[in-house]
Order: sequence, then structure tokens, then C-alpha cells
Amino acid sequence: MSPPRPHFLVLTYPLQGHIAPALRLARRLLAVAPDVLVTFSTTEAAHRRLFPATPEEVDGPNGGRLEFHPFSDGTEGEYGGGGSDAAEFSAYVSSFHAAGPRSVGDLLDALASSRRGRPPVTRVVYTLMLPWAAGVARARDIPSALFWIQPAVVLAVYHRYFHGHAGAVAELSRRGDPSLAVELPGLPPLPVGDLPTFLTESTDPGHYFHPIFLTFRDLFDALDRETPKATVLVNSCQELEVRGALEAVGQHDVLTVGPVLPTGDDETSMFKPDDGAKYTEWLDTKPARSVVYVSFGSLATMGREQLDELLLGLEDSGRPYLLVVRKDNKQAMLAELAEVEMGGERLKSGVAVEWCDQARVLSHAAVGCFVTHCGWNSVAESVASGVPMVGVPKVSEQSMNAWLFEREWRTGARARVDGGGVLRAAELRRCVEEVMGDGPAAAEARRMAEKWKRVVAEAMGSGGSSYCNLLAFVVDG
Ligand code: UDP
Ligand code: UDP
Repeated sequence: MSPPRPHFLVLTYPLQGHIAPALRLARRLLAVAPDVLVTFSTTEAAHRRLFPATPEEVDGPNGGRLEFHPFSDGTEGEYGGGGSDAAEFSAYVSSFHAAGPRSVGDLLDALASSRRGRPPVTRVVYTLMLPWAAGVARARDIPSALFWIQPAVVLAVYHRYFHGHAGAVAELSRRGDPSLAVELPGLPPLPVGDLPTFLTESTDPGHYFHPIFLTFRDLFDALDRETPKATVLVNSCQELEVRGALEAVGQHDVLTVGPVLPTGDDETSMFKPDDGAKYTEWLDTKPARSVVYVSFGSLATMGREQLDELLLGLEDSGRPYLLVVRKDNKQAMLAELAEVEMGGERLKSGVAVEWCDQARVLSHAAVGCFVTHCGWNSVAESVASGVPMVGVPKVSEQSMNAWLFEREWRTGARARVDGGGVLRAAELRRCVEEVMGDGPAAAEARRMAEKWKRVVAEAMGSGGSSYCNLLAFVVDG
């Protein structure tokens, strides 16, 4: 009997930084093998933000098909995935974990009893923050795979932490010197200040991100319950990783399959400003590698002081710049301020937008450097586009990502922030000069960025390491 037609259910937590790679992976699954069916699923509210109009089923290449079916997170449809309010965020994570398992179970049951001749789900693929997904699938005898949307070195750090090294990490972080090196088996020494903040700051039950720490703990518990071993797909390629990162994850099968990138004009954005994307016309008027692109991702909020310092530093840099200031956060006052000032006097050489198509911006020839909060999607999109970075990491694994590009890939610099976490104008200017100026550091960053761009393209191209890993995953079922 021939094996059943592969049908992947791709499940994702409703954050922009999770949805984008999950959707890109869904499309990638269709691209590498023939006749694959993918059902993509996130919460109903996130789904409505992604696709204000009902999405069509999408016919993929090679006879495959992508379908969409959201699950309920137990809320009345108000979008709650992100947000800057800690109490609201914690409450949302709790309701998500309370309602999610049952909704996803119902979805699997509905898909199993489909009368449309749809093959049953053969694999559940789930992103971070769904530690119960593997159990829901296993209860129905369906194998699963975790899609780890951060680099493998971070996966290895979490794994080590939850396997006997929590004490050592806690002890080192207590000493208060971020440069102290943590020795985790199989990994190079890592500065304790660059470890994921959920492991160094959020282990205390009173911390507002404690629910995230618990979610990671539950996720690694769940992986260990998978017998004989769990499968983990990593949104990175082996060439980008440090030695040891891929082996240091216990008995689990770790497959680098990324970094998954946009395939064209496919929709992955939950933010849809009505600005006609004029910034692309503006970019078209700028010389090659002249523009500083500045964005701190989909979650980080920016205070007034930080915005002032950014504008000052960017204007002083003497270079054209494209700055993203989101208006979705709770700081409505800031939004107004941004709007007024951006239309006015203070923006002499730059353009400010609420949101842009970042992957498109980074691949524009005019962009010469990316000032980033170092979310993995941003770092991956930048390295894939050959754009040097200035890192301003804040939370989660962002410092590890900055460590990677600064120390391992050598494609950028990390900015120092002051005691209040604010990046000052002079430091911004210094870093931009370091990666974009006429000096040897900038020449080296540009050269290395070009090199890594080629490496990523090869890994993702037909016959490349990530391509072959994903193909093997699909074919093995
Ligand atoms: N479904 C889905 N994606 C789609 C269309 C449907 O996940 O693009 C779900 C649908 O909501 C239901 C199940 O799959 O939960 C079976 O739907 P179908 O349209 O096949 O109807 P049925 O088989 O029950 O007649
Ligand atoms: N992004 C975008 N336009 C913007 C800012 C961000 O398209 O103006 C996208 C970016 O391309 C990336 C995602 O939002 O895919 C942000 O993910 P990341 O992991 O970098 O950070 P997070 O938002 O999760 O902190």
C-alpha cells in the first residue's frame, strides 16, 4: 500500500513573529514535495487580522494545497496575542492554555471526519507557546513536530537549562556581571547576560513574564515525553549555527529547515496600515546601501525619550532613514506624538511609517543597515538579504541573536544602552558609522553580510542543507 498523502496541520500562537515563519514554513512544505496538503491554524482573532477577507484555499506548486482553519482561544474574538500590558498578557496566556487543547482537539477530529475526501492529518507541526500540542496529537495517534522559530543555539540553551543546569545559570546571573561565561555541555562559553531573559529574569513567580517561563518548561517536558524521540524543525540553517548547537539537544531529532523566507506577495502580516506603501517609492530614489532602516519588531514599545534619541541620532548621522513606529501599542499618547512630529519639522532626511513590508525593505538595494531589536525573524531576514545590523536587543532570546551576528557571523555591531535601557543618539550614530562608514569594520561587516547571504541562499536552494532536511521530513512522514 502506498503511504497516505501527507497532510500537515501547522499550528501557531497568535503573535506576528510566530505566524510569519509558520506560514512561510507551510508554503515551503508545499514547495519541496509533491501533493502535500497543509492546514494552517491560528486563533480566530489573529486569523481575522491576517485575512480580513476570507482567504481562498491556495493551490500550491506540485499539486499541493494550503487551507486555513482557525481555532478558538476561548476569548470573544478580541485579539490578545501580544500587547504591552503585563497583566493582560498573563491573563491571555492563561486563557490560551485553558482553551487551546480542546479547540485544537476538536479541529483534529473535524478534519478526521471530513467528508470532502481530505486525507487525515499525518503530522501536527506546532510553534512555541503550544506545549500541549504534541499531547493533543498523540491522543489521536498523530505524530507531531515542534517548529522552533529561533536559532538552534537557543534551543540547546533552553534544553540544557531544563536538564540540570538551571542552578548554574541562576548562580551566575545572581553575580550581576553579564559578561561572565556560562559553560553548558556541548556549547561554546556564552555570556550569561546574553542568555534568554525568560531563564535569567522570569523564573520568579512574581515576574510578569513568568507564564512564558512556565510555558517553556512545559514545552521541554513535553518534548521529553515523546518516545522514542521528538522531532524539532529549526528555523535556521546548520551553516549559521555554532558548533555543538545541533547535537546538544538530548535524544531529539533536530532538523534545520530555514530560515524560511517570503515566497513573494503572500500575506503574513497582521498589521495593515493604509499607507499605500509609499516608502518603497522613496527607497527607489536613494543610492545603493545609503539608507538606515530602523524597526523594533511587532511587540516592543518605544517611549518618548527613546523616540527623541532615535530621531536625533538618525538626523545627525547625515544618512537617509526609514523608521517604523507602530501605533498599535497602548501608548496612544506616543502614537499621537509620532504622527504629529513625523509629518512635521523633525524628519528632515527620513521617513517614518507605522509598519512596512520588512522583508521587501531589507531586500531593497538602497538599504545599507538595519537597526534592529534582534527578534529572530528580523535577524534572519537581514542575514538572508545581506544587510549588516546594529543590534539593540531587549528581551527573550534577542541578545543571543545579537551575539550570533556580532561574534559568530561578524555582520554587525551591538549598541550599548544606558541604565534606563535607552539607546542614546550618540551611540546610535557611532554604531551606524561602524557598520556603514568608510572604516575597515564597515568593509568587513559588508563583506561578511554578502558571504552569509550566499550561504543562506545555498542552504535554502534545491539540494541545500535546509532544503534536504525539509524534504526528508516530508518524505519520512
Ligand atoms: N476546514 C478546514 N480548512 C478549510 C475548510 C474546512 O480546516 O479550508 C475544516 C472545516 O471547518 C471542518 C473540517 O475541516 O472543521 C471539515 O470541513 P469540510 O468542509 O470538509 O466539511 P465536511 O467534511 O464536514 O462536510
Ligand atoms: N515586520 C514587518 N514590518 C515591520 C516590522 C516588523 O513586516 O514594520 C515583521 C518582520 O519582517 C518579522 C516580524 O515582523 O517577520 C517580527 O518578528 P521578529 O521575530 O523580528 O520580532 P518580534 O516582533 O517577534 O519581536
